[in-house]
Amino acid sequence: MENKKELRTWLDDLKLNHPLVVAGPCSAETEEQVLKIAHELKDTDVSYFRAGIWKPRTRPGMFEGVGALGLKWLQRVKAETGMKIATEVANAAHVKLALEHDVDLLWIGARSTVSPFIVQEIADALEGTDKIVLVKNPVNPDLALWLGAVERLASANIKNLGVIHRGFSTYEKTKYRNTPEWQLAIELQSKFPDLPIINDPSHITGKRDMIFDVSQTALDLNFDGLMIETHYDPENAWSDAAQQVTPETLVQIMKDLKIRKESDSEADYNDALNNLRAKIDVIDNQIIELLGKRMVVADSIGTLKRQKNVSVLQSKRWNEILGKMVLEGQDHGLSEEFILKMFKAIHQESINHQEKILKK
Ligand code: PEP
Ligand code: MN
Repeated sequence: MENKKELRTWLDDLKLNHPLVVAGPCSAETEEQVLKIAHELKDTDVSYFRAGIWKPRTRPGMFEGVGALGLKWLQRVKAETGMKIATEVANAAHVKLALEHDVDLLWIGARSTVSPFIVQEIADALEGTDKIVLVKNPVNPDLALWLGAVERLASANIKNLGVIHRGFSTYEKTKYRNTPEWQLAIELQSKFPDLPIINDPSHITGKRDMIFDVSQTALDLNFDGLMIETHYDPENAWSDAAQQVTPETLVQIMKDLKIRKESDSEADYNDALNNLRAKIDVIDNQIIELLGKRMVVADSIGTLKRQKNVSVLQSKRWNEILGKMVLEGQDHGLSEEFILKMFKAIHQESINHQEKILKK
């Protein structure tokens, strides 16, 4: 996939003076629910009204969407509110129906992006379309798989493309429903700076209280837009109840977000600075997380040493580590002085951890 400027055309043509906002319920539930939410979103920053009608649920037996019937409700949304409409498609039959009902934006869900066969089937069904097609990241943090899906669509002559970052599934429970792994999105942006990238804080966080912060980070990292699940009665939504916000909250979130615009050179400078600071924040958080993990391993070593009744400090091993790290640091432009200071501090923290265990 070449990085052509045309990739951005559909977004630039919207001439928005704020990030693109796609909002609406996780699932279309009833015609009344869809229309009520749409009317509440009508005079806001929302450009595209979303509603899932075919719902990929992890386990069977849950609400799996209203199906094609919901497309008629979306058409009413467009006719009554003027908002454009968006839904997820997961196979060629969905694509055919969505195109027949003039859906303006189709997205490929995280569980579909993992399957090259499904993505190819969707790409073939969409061949040459001028509709907007957005590809959610696959559930696993695999940049090549994500880009591969975009390439399949680009090869099917689909011009109005973009991606949605919705976070990645992990075995370990974290504070996120799907961890953002911002590094991956940053890498994608640096490879394809003209490919519009939308953030989906709803599926990243799984919790409405965290949506603002993740949205702000996304905007600081130069994301082009947000997809936020919105429902007039989030608690009683038929899917993803914990992460949906009311239209009122959505409006407040948009008001509170610091939206960094490029206008004069001062603003350019501030944008660039904020963008770099956001990258530093991402890396700092990773450093803390890694140090935390290192101490958990140190604790296990402490437990072993306690069983064997050996001392915490083992100088030979420590000197080996230091020597290796000084060399490794040189490869990364880090001075010997810095490496020694940093590892002494880390080592001291490990010793403190282990001593606590030995003294138990
Ligand atoms: C959705 O947008 O409601 C959805 C199912 O998302 P994802 O594919 O990111 O899980
Ligand atoms: Mn959802």
